[in-house]
Amino acid sequence: MPRLPIERIEAIPARIPTIRPHHLAFATVAAMDVVILRVTAGGVEGYGEASTIGGPRWGEESPEGIAAIAGTYLAEAMLGQDAAQLNQVEARIARAVRGNHFAKSALSLALHDAVARAGGLRLAELLGGPQTNHLPIAWTLASGDTARDIEEGERMLSLRRHRDFKLKIGAHAPEQDVAHVAAIARAFEGRASVRVDVNQAWDEPTAARFLPALAEAGVVMAEQPVAGWNVPAMARLQRANPRLALMGDEGIATPQDALRHAAEAACHAVALKPAKHGGVAGTRAVATIARTAGLGLYGGTMLEGTIGTLASLHLYSTLGEHAWGTELFGPLLLRDSLATREIEVRDFAIHLPDGPGIGTDLDEDKLEHFRTDRSRLLVSG
Ligand SMILES: [Mg+2]
Repeated sequence: MPRLPIERIEAIPARIPTIRPHHLAFATVAAMDVVILRVTAGGVEGYGEASTIGGPRWGEESPEGIAAIAGTYLAEAMLGQDAAQLNQVEARIARAVRGNHFAKSALSLALHDAVARAGGLRLAELLGGPQTNHLPIAWTLASGDTARDIEEGERMLSLRRHRDFKLKIGAHAPEQDVAHVAAIARAFEGRASVRVDVNQAWDEPTAARFLPALAEAGVVMAEQPVAGWNVPAMARLQRANPRLALMGDEGIATPQDALRHAAEAACHAVALKPAKHGGVAGTRAVATIARTAGLGLYGGTMLEGTIGTLASLHLYSTLGEHAWGTELFGPLLLRDSLATREIEVRDFAIHLPDGPGIGTDLDEDKLEHFRTDRSRLLVSG
């Protein structure tokens, strides 16, 4: 591989409206704020993306912070470095700034994309090659209305788009949430799997009281029922509810987090997200620990658009079996796209695209339209 000196790093914030309000325990989202990372290395452009859900509400990073960290401190550390030396690149990114995993991930993905394109390889090939060309893709029913969610689910089944449904709960009284979930689980019994994501909204007594009712209703997996820091509670809840797979999401960012969950038997499943793990190397480390401990992998999303979603898909495709599939539906929730190519979803799976790098280019016109860092000059008559 010839030298690919990093010549330019640009972080561009953009906002894209969603097709419907997306209700979660901690926020209701009507537009997604994303940050596109555009890098040039050895004359070749590469793209990465980070997004947040409701600003610094799901995690600690905001779009403004991601753009500032990636566009200044990480850029200063990386300009002039050889992008082709990916192990050194990842180590340098990790050392340059503490925390800030979303910003680091966007840059890590963009540099991997540039190196793959320079070599004429798909990103998955650069990472040693995919183990599969498609992965199951779940859909989140989060309209906030039971009848509308069932109708939406029926449509997804008939389109053969999704047969795994995730329900976002925790915003209402648990009795109300459980009744909502049970009605949906009954409607799709034997035809689709139903999972819930509580997004840390319950305390341990609430989870202890209501998780059995969810299992009884046919729910197969419950994501992060209690706070991410409360690993002992996760372990007690998992032990008390063996029929229900608990999934660690907010609680599992670093490889050390994954190791602790594995050692304490605190969950049966791990939600991967490059943004949580700080990029490619961190995601591989977390996946290796999970797999080694017998925990099922789940290809998670921060609801990135097409660029971040395809980067995640390439990476996940190299990691082996995803016992819980993926939720790489972010682009399907957005009204528009910053990419020149759409994701391919058919037969309940998302398919790995051809073409170098992540498999799409940036749509410069759309980026101009949706970017939020250039105020428009308004002149009155
Ligand atoms: Mg989650």
